[in-house]
Amino acid sequence: MSQQLSLGAINKLTGKYVYSKIANKKDKYICPECNKDLILVQGETRIHHFRHKVDSINPCDHYSKPSESQIHKDAKMLMKTLLENKIPLQFIRQCVSCKINSQINLFEITEDSTITLEYRFKYKDELRIADVAHTLNDEIKGIYEICNTHKTCSEDRPEPWVEIDANLLLTLANSNNKPLIINCIRCEKCEKCKNELIRIDKDKKIAIDIFIKWFGEGNEILPFTFREFDGIYASGISYNGDYICGYLGNDDYTPDIIILDKCNDRFYIDLTPKQYPIGLNQELDDCGIGLYYIDINWILQQISIPTKIECVKIRDSVE
Ligand SMILES: [Zn+2]
Ligand SMILES: [Zn+2]
Repeated sequence: MSQQLSLGAINKLTGKYVYSKIANKKDKYICPECNKDLILVQGETRIHHFRHKVDSINPCDHYSKPSESQIHKDAKMLMKTLLENKIPLQFIRQCVSCKINSQINLFEITEDSTITLEYRFKYKDELRIADVAHTLNDEIKGIYEICNTHKTCSEDRPEPWVEIDANLLLTLANSNNKPLIINCIRCEKCEKCKNELIRIDKDKKIAIDIFIKWFGEGNEILPFTFREFDGIYASGISYNGDYICGYLGNDDYTPDIIILDKCNDRFYIDLTPKQYPIGLNQELDDCGIGLYYIDINWILQQISIPTKIECVKIRDSVE
């Protein structure tokens, strides 16, 4: 893997980081690790790369066998250089939910932009360090996190920020691709999927109200066949009487609605879009609990109080 990677070098005259694709035979380069002179190889078969002169006494592995931290450090300097040189970059991210790629919009680098390595800033009352930051008048405009083996997945950063695989960046930057299309490896949902969740949540709240009204009028609606209406609760809300549904048997799971029958048996009800029955693997260790999944849209579509509740799926611990 690392054999194919082409790490950058330091321009001996300017002291600046240079990646092999933009290096030239006229300038002299040194290794950032050992400061020794390098040879720039611009062959036909392999991508352009730097290598050390043969040194049998005190060899340096920076280019032949770079360590994870050398790759990480190099990729950070590379990212900074790409931004400073205004190399056209396009960032895309695959949605963890729908798997569709979408482009990420980052602020353009301008003449007044500053690109900083290891940028220190405060966010949500904590000191953080960004691998590479784009700032304008001391205001963060974009953060570029570089990762090799360990993802900093979903760590808190102010938006917009991208997370890039170090190996991928090193390979791409030295390729002939234009623009450089770089995958952001953050585990996120796309805007469409986020909005879809918001919409489902809104529909769910409306559906809960409708559902509670149906029973609130004292109706018996199959399969909930209690003789006399006793209690029905939306999640966390006591609807009838003073029952407080704080204890749900399992702290990790909160049903949308709880129905208590005469014998104090509990029925858990989850409202869900039909296509995503969630929590179906939930262990129901508590005796007398039935778990019912009801389609949100089915509730919304009812014109009058139904005689039977249609369930997407039922799990009954009594079964
Ligand atoms: Zn070296
Ligand atoms: Zn999506």
